[in-house]
Amino acid sequence: ATFKSLGLIDPLLDALEKLKYKAPTDIQTAALPPALEGRDIIGVASTGSGKTAAFALPILQKLWENPTGLFACVLAPTRELAFQISQQFEALGSAMGVRCAVIIGGVDEVAQKIALAQKPHIIVATPGRLNDHLENTKGFSLRTVKFLVFDEADRLLDMDFGPVIDRILKVIPQERTTYLFSATMTNKVSKLQRASLSNPVKVQV
Ligand code: AMP
Repeated sequence: ATFKSLGLIDPLLDALEKLKYKAPTDIQTAALPPALEGRDIIGVASTGSGKTAAFALPILQKLWENPTGLFACVLAPTRELAFQISQQFEALGSAMGVRCAVIIGGVDEVAQKIALAQKPHIIVATPGRLNDHLENTKGFSLRTVKFLVFDEADRLLDMDFGPVIDRILKVIPQERTTYLFSATMTNKVSKLQRASLSNPVKVQV
């Protein structure tokens, strides 16, 4: 397959060419068609598979088609991963002027409040700090969010983010698309899947 044959639009094809991604990886080839059809996705894939672009590309394509407020919320287990994901969104969305905010623990909250006030399209967050902002940052909410992503869901749950994820699920719109990526499908991951995805397509590499 080529990125073009999978149905991606020109601003994304241009960005992929700039990044010298010549062909889609297996997880991208499997995930992009159902994702572009609007399905929820479970991706069983680990780091190095190209999983980040597998969820970032369809989100950016839908954002391009219908830009509305805060569009996507990506939950990641660690700060380092959150930064990497944000960098991929910015690189792939470079031709689209996409704005990304990284919301992680251990850094100044005031700077993050300012970043949130600047109306990002995409938030990449660790769950604890995102929840702090939901409780304490005036004017910030997830009510316009169309996409929710759990990246490395097995690690998110191993780090005991389960209860705070449950709180986030209560305040994010029910009507949304959800992607869950995990290296392993543990019982906890299956439980989160049942609680948060609807009729998902499972892609595995
Ligand atoms: P990930 O599995 O998302 O952490 O991606 C692993 C690495 O592969 C990252 O450095 C990406 O920039 C790179 N990458 C993702 N998709 C492709 C592709 N189709 N061709 C070449 N490199 C890619």
